[in-house]
Amino acid sequence: MPDENQQPPQAPQPNPERKTLDDRAKMTELERIRHSCAHVMATAILRLWPDAQFAYGPPVENGFYYDMELKHRIAPEDFEKIEAEMKKEIKANNVFERIVVTREQAIAQAQSGRLGGLTDRPGNASKFKLDLLQQIPEGEPISYYKNGDFIDLCAGPHVMRTGNIGAFKLTSVAAAYYKGDEKGPQLQRIYGTAFKNKTALDEYFKMLEEAKRRDHRKIGAEMGLFAIDTEFVGPGMPLWLPKGTVLVEELEKLAKETEFAAGYVRVRTPHLAREKMYKTSGHLPYYAESMFPPIELDLLRGKPDEIAKREALGEEVAFLRSQVLSAAADLVVGDNPLIGDVDLVGNDDEEFQLQKMQTLWEDGTLMAGAGIVGEFVAKQQNWELMQPELYYLKAMNCPHHHRIFAAEPHSYRDLPLRLAEYGTCYRYEQSGELFGLMRVRSMNMNDAHIYCTEDQFADEFRAVNEMYLKYFKIFGLEKYQMRFSTSAPEGLGKKYVNEPELWKKTEDMVRRVLIESGINFVEVANEAAFYGPKIDVQVWSAIGREFTIATNQVDFAVPARFGLQYKDRDNTMKTPLCIHRAPLGTHERFIGFLIEHYAGNFPLWLAPDQVRVITIGAEDDPASAPLIAYAKGIAAELRGQMVRVSTDFSNSPIKGKIQDAEQLRVHTMLVIGGRDMDAGAVSVRLHGKGPQGAKAKGEVVAEILAAIRERRA
Ligand SMILES: [Zn+2]
Ligand SMILES: [Zn+2]
Repeated sequence: MPDENQQPPQAPQPNPERKTLDDRAKMTELERIRHSCAHVMATAILRLWPDAQFAYGPPVENGFYYDMELKHRIAPEDFEKIEAEMKKEIKANNVFERIVVTREQAIAQAQSGRLGGLTDRPGNASKFKLDLLQQIPEGEPISYYKNGDFIDLCAGPHVMRTGNIGAFKLTSVAAAYYKGDEKGPQLQRIYGTAFKNKTALDEYFKMLEEAKRRDHRKIGAEMGLFAIDTEFVGPGMPLWLPKGTVLVEELEKLAKETEFAAGYVRVRTPHLAREKMYKTSGHLPYYAESMFPPIELDLLRGKPDEIAKREALGEEVAFLRSQVLSAAADLVVGDNPLIGDVDLVGNDDEEFQLQKMQTLWEDGTLMAGAGIVGEFVAKQQNWELMQPELYYLKAMNCPHHHRIFAAEPHSYRDLPLRLAEYGTCYRYEQSGELFGLMRVRSMNMNDAHIYCTEDQFADEFRAVNEMYLKYFKIFGLEKYQMRFSTSAPEGLGKKYVNEPELWKKTEDMVRRVLIESGINFVEVANEAAFYGPKIDVQVWSAIGREFTIATNQVDFAVPARFGLQYKDRDNTMKTPLCIHRAPLGTHERFIGFLIEHYAGNFPLWLAPDQVRVITIGAEDDPASAPLIAYAKGIAAELRGQMVRVSTDFSNSPIKGKIQDAEQLRVHTMLVIGGRDMDAGAVSVRLHGKGPQGAKAKGEVVAEILAAIRERRA
């Protein structure tokens, strides 16, 4: 289902998927360095603790790990010792030698403890390697990689020599289960990272330090942007404080203006919907775990007599059902010619039989048993009407928008129809997964659904991409990448809707538009959504950290499930395509990202505190009265133009007043003294950038208004 890709914090993710030889061949140079470094780490650990048994040791997002079983409990204090041994192995510049062996040879050497070891280790078989050997399919080559005395069962690839590992560092140690299975043996996992050279390694750690300094939870608290009140509101449900609300509303304003210019119309939908909605959309039952449990609305609540009646009727319905089914069985056995239908014969699906009997009864073709079927149908309907209604908090806006499309008849002239809403959604995330604004349970999505014809698709899709690029420019995002996920033929009818032609057609269209628009993208096979190709948008913050903030998806299946139709030129009814798009993702995630990106120093248009007027002279000093009046006039003029302006006319020393404003991250400080007033001027000071000199008052005001209007960086 369309998702704005909430992702966990930047914890290294295990990657047991990297198994096929094809995948391995795709390992980047950096991944080879990192994986090779895992072998070097194992070599070092064995020199210190020769009994260590190694399991998996893949490269991960920001480094590598190796899982091992070892009696000694490794602590960060051991890292220095291990790193010293690793340095020796790298200095030795041993070749990573690939050795192809037979399964029998490999099994024998695993039994002697040689695999994942420096020598034979009698009585200490390489048990995990034995298990891994069993997972290698028959016919696939079995290989070792050997550096110095260390031999590991590994399909590679590696760098040429240990000396090719430019720089490395061990970062943490954690507990891990073998193959992630809680019932399996518990292992120790050491994480590390490696780079081509020392400079790259240093830059990485500097970036991590900077990310810590820019942590959105820390800056959010400092600036009073949001609060998470676990006790009263609940975990994962941020409260936007007044200054955070400024950010929210500025983003909404940006989206509204941009979407209005692009021909979108706005809609508003409730936060709840009946169960039927999500059954039709396919969220239920498959997505149920990510939704809050339903709210039960029982019209009979507090009416025990009525409830008793409902229960009695329920029992009656159950009895009639069994009667009808046994009648069906009789018909089947007797092959009753009155029915003249062979579908029932040999079919033991009860629901199917009931449905069939009901249809036959409705058609009037059911002769024998018509009475009991009729009674069953009538009572069952009554009973269903008495059931409590289930409502779900919405996890996605799409179904609501589909119902808006369905609320009115449409002709081809209405298309493309672009419905936009900053919709609030609720998802049940495990409490352990919640993380500040980045992973939450309530979220506001910059959502829209574009209903269009196949002919309109390419233009619509292109316009959506242009909107993404426009936003990137406004936020100064220089590095981005779109990840285009496509289907795979073997998944059709299982993982993907079984529409081979539509898949091909839309994937071709999407690919063509991406290429024509000069978008930076990578294509990933077999990761599409169930109902169409998907594009995840990754951006890099100012300090080079990667975030997935938005998705863009093509949907050619769900509109049909909702029966959405428009009347085409030739008067036939057709189903529109739907593009789901959310370039600004959710407020929660996007603002979390922006806080890091700007380190809380937002551009003027976005800054919660835009301008502060500061006087060299205090309000309680009668001699300063004309100066205060002049300063108040400027503040009032700006406020009249919707500028968020505050004043500081206190008698604190000017240095202290400026310090206060700097600490609050006020974007522009207008510092006004007697000389400024006499000249009809103001002295401008920018947060973090210092004094900018004095300028005529009118010029400064005009400059501020223009910077806000144009959303200057
Ligand atoms: Zn390897
Ligand atoms: Zn959607």
